[in-house]
Amino acid sequence: MVQISEVRGNSRDHRTAAHTHIKGLGLNSAGIAEKQAAGFVGQNSAREACGVVVDLIRAQKMAGRGVLLAGGPGTGKTALALAISQELGTKIPFCPITGSEIYSTEVKKTEVLMENFRRAIGLKVRETKDVYEGEVTELTPEEAENPLGGYGKTISTLLIGLKSARGQKKLRLDPSIYEAIQKERVTVGDVIYIETNTGACKRVGRSDAYATEFDLEAEEYVPIPKGEVHKKKEIVQDDIMSMMGQLMKPKMTEITDKLRGEINKVVSKYINQGVAELVPGVLFIDEAHMLDVECFTYLNKALESPISPIVVLASNRGVTTIRGADDLVAAHGIPPDFLSRLLIIPTHPYEPEEIKRIVRIRSTTEGVQLTDAAVDKIAEHGVRISLRYCLQLLAPASILARVNGRSQIDVQDVAECEDLFLDARRSAQVLSSESGRGFIS
Ligand code: ATP
Repeated sequence: MVQISEVRGNSRDHRTAAHTHIKGLGLNSAGIAEKQAAGFVGQNSAREACGVVVDLIRAQKMAGRGVLLAGGPGTGKTALALAISQELGTKIPFCPITGSEIYSTEVKKTEVLMENFRRAIGLKVRETKDVYEGEVTELTPEEAENPLGGYGKTISTLLIGLKSARGQKKLRLDPSIYEAIQKERVTVGDVIYIETNTGACKRVGRSDAYATEFDLEAEEYVPIPKGEVHKKKEIVQDDIMSMMGQLMKPKMTEITDKLRGEINKVVSKYINQGVAELVPGVLFIDEAHMLDVECFTYLNKALESPISPIVVLASNRGVTTIRGADDLVAAHGIPPDFLSRLLIIPTHPYEPEEIKRIVRIRSTTEGVQLTDAAVDKIAEHGVRISLRYCLQLLAPASILARVNGRSQIDVQDVAECEDLFLDARRSAQVLSSESGRGFIS
């Protein structure tokens, strides 16, 4: 089978590192959010709404539509978008970008958008194995005499004759399988079922089995009992990788039409061969108000494509100007005709208790220990400033604790961190109070 390997940069991995504790939406089978599940704490109605979105995607009812997560900074918008992709399946591509990223002097805005659209489309590659089912047939006298057949001198290749639906087959068998078959006295006419990969038997069953088959649900090899007739099966293993991962060099700045054409050609070849299929992932665009009218026009059109990824926008703005539209204002800075295509999900600030829980989850994920008093102190910052700021304190505070000879972060370390690192609001205050002697003199 064609070997396809993915070439990927690691910038996306860095971006999602802050969310490694998020494993899904944490909903129960009725779609109700558990207070704390799958790494998620609170934000229940937004999680449940995202659950409905996942259902709509599965029912293929999201075509031409997108999602807007609207709420303040650090209210879990990125985490929710990531959880949607996790709910859709493992390895579903999740491509997070920020609205401002599309502006570059080298690459056109719509090019950047298109590139990310394609990045968020997965290519599901199928690995198949041959499965033979058939009656044991007689070996030719030469073969019977010399079980090593023409396969060289190694005992690892023994011959057995099989008459399968695909015609007469001579399979190369693992010697232990051969032994098992001999022990069971397989006679001509017995039905045998052997899973093969590149012609060689993979595993041997117990003495009551001729061979083993891979049970997709149990994810293990199970023996096939003697005499049982099995239908021809295809063992399928799916691997999903980003479509843009194909043929792409990590540092490429612009995907030329020519390269895109080449990628399309290869991908269509795989699809036509039945080796691969496309699966839409999630494209997450943070700071959606940074997009301009041209981008929204592009998105409008792109959403109609049958292989469009699920587009999740996020905004923490209220009514603001639409970029590139002559001072026109609209909710979230998004043109009304595009906004009407979006399912809007609000996110809300967290309760102090919820912030404490999130701090605890993150500290476990990051492998740092902290006293109860330090959790309270960090969570205070979460309430007063932002969740993101307080979570960012964890790593430097743990370094300070170590420097100060403590194995756990304590209140003093948090206080020291607070002095060392300003949050955005304090930074602005410092600048305005020191404006007389600013940075530029
Ligand atoms: P911004 O508007 O600044 O981009 P955001 O709304 O996208 O922020 P996130 O980046 O998702 O916020 O959240 C900040 C951090 O808090 C991340 O590490 C995220 O995983 C974590 N977080 C947010 N909400 C929750 C939650 N409900 N449960 C667990 N972790 C959360």
